[in-house]
Amino acid sequence: MPHHTPLIGTIVAGLVVAFIMGAIAHRLKLSPLVGYLIAGIMVGPFTPGFVADAGLANELAEIGVILLMFGVGLHFSLKDLLSVKAIAVPGAIVQIAVATLLGMGLAHLMGWTLMGGLVFGLALSVASTVVLLRALQGADLVETRRGRIAVGWLIVEDLVMVLALVLLPALASVMNNAEGGGAGALVAPLLGTLLKVVGFVAVMLIVGRRVIPWALHWVVHTGSRELFRLAVLAIALGVAFGAALAFDVSFALGAFFAGMILGETPLSRRATEETLPLRDAFAVLFFVSVGMLFNPSIVIEHPLPLLATILIIVIGKSIAAWGIVRAFGYPNVTALTIAASLAQIGEFSFILASLGAGLGVLPPDARDLILAGAMASIFLNPIIFSMIVRENKKDEDETEEGRQTSGASERPRIGHVILVGYGRVGKLIASRLHERKVHFVIVEGDPERVEEAEEAGLPVVKGNALEDKHLLAAGICEARHLLIAVPEGFEGAAIHDHARNLNANLQVIARAHSDAEVAHLERMGVPHVVMGERELAARMLTLCGVG
Ligand code: AMP
Repeated sequence: MPHHTPLIGTIVAGLVVAFIMGAIAHRLKLSPLVGYLIAGIMVGPFTPGFVADAGLANELAEIGVILLMFGVGLHFSLKDLLSVKAIAVPGAIVQIAVATLLGMGLAHLMGWTLMGGLVFGLALSVASTVVLLRALQGADLVETRRGRIAVGWLIVEDLVMVLALVLLPALASVMNNAEGGGAGALVAPLLGTLLKVVGFVAVMLIVGRRVIPWALHWVVHTGSRELFRLAVLAIALGVAFGAALAFDVSFALGAFFAGMILGETPLSRRATEETLPLRDAFAVLFFVSVGMLFNPSIVIEHPLPLLATILIIVIGKSIAAWGIVRAFGYPNVTALTIAASLAQIGEFSFILASLGAGLGVLPPDARDLILAGAMASIFLNPIIFSMIVRENKKDEDETEEGRQTSGASERPRIGHVILVGYGRVGKLIASRLHERKVHFVIVEGDPERVEEAEEAGLPVVKGNALEDKHLLAAGICEARHLLIAVPEGFEGAAIHDHARNLNANLQVIARAHSDAEVAHLERMGVPHVVMGERELAARMLTLCGVG
């Protein structure tokens, strides 16, 4: 048995401890992110016991960033991206400027150099991709106007940081030998980077747009599910890595473009499904890796500068973002969501911090403050975000987005049917219920399927039926029947559990695919379970006259 296995040790410790702490956080009704961060502190170098490899954890976390951005790209079109540029570009730039100036102010008070202050300020100005996307996804906002603005804003920040990473070393050397070089020394790297970004976008739009869909269609026709899964991963990771290597853009930007190109093909849904489990596992490792960097002694040694850092990230940046969005005439709810979604720092800040330390311009205290500020702001972010989203749920439905539940609240809803899942099975059920004029409401989690239901004029609540709020929005307390048409029997049993807690008189019919699922559903008290395979067998037998 090999004993020196730091990669395996880091993955296993990261996932196992994150799972335990995430489950405890969930039990305490906290965001699981809090549990993941604490897991990171536990396996980090500042606490006793097992110490995972921080460098490896960081790299693994990058895979999470790539898959997350790829997933967002899948639901984004170039049109969506361009449609938010009018607000995202000035918004991100002004917000970065405000946060950087605030950071430089604090640096001045701390007696750091101008260059140190600039790196510190920039590190406080850029939001974390993972935290922002997780928050938007958790609240089902990625495909709303607000969500698109936030993602567009993030991409602009990402581009500014790519430029900053290239310019900082040049700037540091100009500042060091102030007599020679001058501003001219900055122009070459700036132009070089801009050219590379433009080159990358052009290659993706001209070559990638043809090659990627073609390759994927070819794989689909091989009929191999395994190859398809592999192809999707190869495209996401390959483009991200290749983009970073050849064009010096960030992994996140490369993955976003790969996703956006795949999103234009009808295969985007399957591609999303294939990357989901990996994406979630690696995103968890991101939080673990942040926790690992946190040195708790900073809280005792520099409490006031830490507080000031946190205030800049959470309050200063938010006020700037809120003000800009409002100045562009957007409703308060949009401004608040965007401000809250950007009120943390993350992966780019760490990269900037280590670059600044490497150039010898960032004092060690500043680096520790950035890491601790990231930890605290990521810790606070889910709380602030969910408060704002909850507070504004009502306004949002009535203002900018239109109602999420199309037609769902207009119909008389007593004794109606709730149908969970609008997929292959759910669609057949829905069309028959519609024909027979039976009152029903669909609960569906997949945005594309929700859109299909809306286009068919059917009442639908968008969301996961495992969450009570969506069942309540479908009128579960007044419903008579619940039809659970999701493919996973075990998930169906959990949905049944939630629904029966809200309405004990509900008549439930669930779908299953295996004997084990049927047995589980029956054990959980589901009175009627329909097993697809048995029904198919019975029908085939009937058709050949044996039934
Ligand atoms: P199919 O297997 O084609 O019948 O599709 C099942 C449908 O159920 C898919 O559209 C899923 O998005 C949907 N679905 C699965 N689980 C849930 C859930 N927990 N809440 C809402 N919709 C779900």
